[in-house]
Amino acid sequence: MKAKEIAQLLDEPACEHNQKSKSGCAKLKPGATAGGCCFDGAQIALLPIADVAHLVHGPIACAGNSWDNRGTSSTGPTLYRLGMTTDLTENDVIMGRGEKRLFHSIKQAIDRYHPTAVFVYNTCVPALIGDDIESVCKAAQARWGTPVVPIDAAGFYGTKNLGNRIAGETMIKWVIGTREPDPIPEFAQRSGIQVHSINLVGEYNIAGELWHVLPLLDELGLRVLCTLSGDARYREVQTMHRAEVTMMVCSKAMINVARRLEELYDIPWFEGSFYGVSDVSQALRGFAQRLNDPDLVQRTEALIEREETRMQQALNPWRQRLAGKKVLLYTGGVKSWSIVSALQDLGMTVVATGTRKSTEEDKARIREIMGEEAKMIEDGNPKILLQVFKDYQADILIAGGRNMYTALKAKIPFLDINQEREFAYEGYEGMLTLAQQLARSLESPIWPMVRSLPPWQLGTA
Ligand code: SF4
Repeated sequence: MKAKEIAQLLDEPACEHNQKSKSGCAKLKPGATAGGCCFDGAQIALLPIADVAHLVHGPIACAGNSWDNRGTSSTGPTLYRLGMTTDLTENDVIMGRGEKRLFHSIKQAIDRYHPTAVFVYNTCVPALIGDDIESVCKAAQARWGTPVVPIDAAGFYGTKNLGNRIAGETMIKWVIGTREPDPIPEFAQRSGIQVHSINLVGEYNIAGELWHVLPLLDELGLRVLCTLSGDARYREVQTMHRAEVTMMVCSKAMINVARRLEELYDIPWFEGSFYGVSDVSQALRGFAQRLNDPDLVQRTEALIEREETRMQQALNPWRQRLAGKKVLLYTGGVKSWSIVSALQDLGMTVVATGTRKSTEEDKARIREIMGEEAKMIEDGNPKILLQVFKDYQADILIAGGRNMYTALKAKIPFLDINQEREFAYEGYEGMLTLAQQLARSLESPIWPMVRSLPPWQLGTA
């Protein structure tokens, strides 16, 4: 990838950080890739496309970096869970065998697994020795007739976030617009409901949580052409240019896809969230408003009223158990403001929240919801998190999986909210799951046991 193309991706006009005097992306500092390199970001963004062979061109260790570390689910193919690599060795580098090895690896992937497409991820070593992965992919595609897409996102190009954008840009350049969507099925046409096509970008179907939302969209006649990339298929990504509206589900990853779809195909987009009762309702309204269909607006409001009433009743017993509990929230990718409002819905108080990956707009929304005095944590190393937990007398830490051991060692209740989580929190139903998991963690009998002195210290042993 040329330096000019990287600079363009870093200068993303739709990103809130660009509104600041200093760009949040433009200057990389040493160690910037410690939280995940550019390749990691690209692979993590596209790996949920389930029927594609994801082939990592590089030393085997790169493939282990991001493979399968997001608990994304598929309704069908499981090919995406198979780690594939060209396993480049020192000898291959010295003998200049990188491209040849890649060509044969693509053949092996196609012969053995018959994927709908092969995605080839570039990594540092082949990028440094100058392997021309684009030409190899072109030659392989011509030879075997299966689409082979080069994703040039070597680790040293920049951060994980840049990798997300390169992944999105690659989809725009090579995949989106290469096929027309299937016609609307006859039974849907006969229903008398106007069917609209939509895209979801930045939705990863963690723990299958999108399946809480899809039935609502189905009921409203909103056909999801493609979810980039949770539970997606290659043939769905190809048709994204025909959607009438795009929703950006995660605020930063692949924001360039939504903007470019608008630029190239005139598809409007909006940012929304499926976490928390009020935000799910807002997201559904977001579609109805932008699709300019009065009947859809009416049906959306009716659905929201029905679901919100149902959820009020279902959540009431849990609210009583959670009311007044204090939360220290330290999320990674998931929108903090959305989770804050979901927790407030449950009667909990968020005493502080992490904003390391939040955009300026996210922070403004957090201030709006939590008040100007809201404590925002930029750098949440374990020591700081535990100090804030103590200072604010919080009851539970809600954070990513890597903070789990911080919480367990400190003997405090913990809930995993990030990409490795095992429970589905999206949609109205997800809110119920969230309330149940919070109550179970807070009320677990393990906490008084581990906090009390052992019998030999109490003198009862
Ligand atoms: S692509 Fe580069 S930075 Fe990323 S894991 Fe491989 S060697 Fe490390």
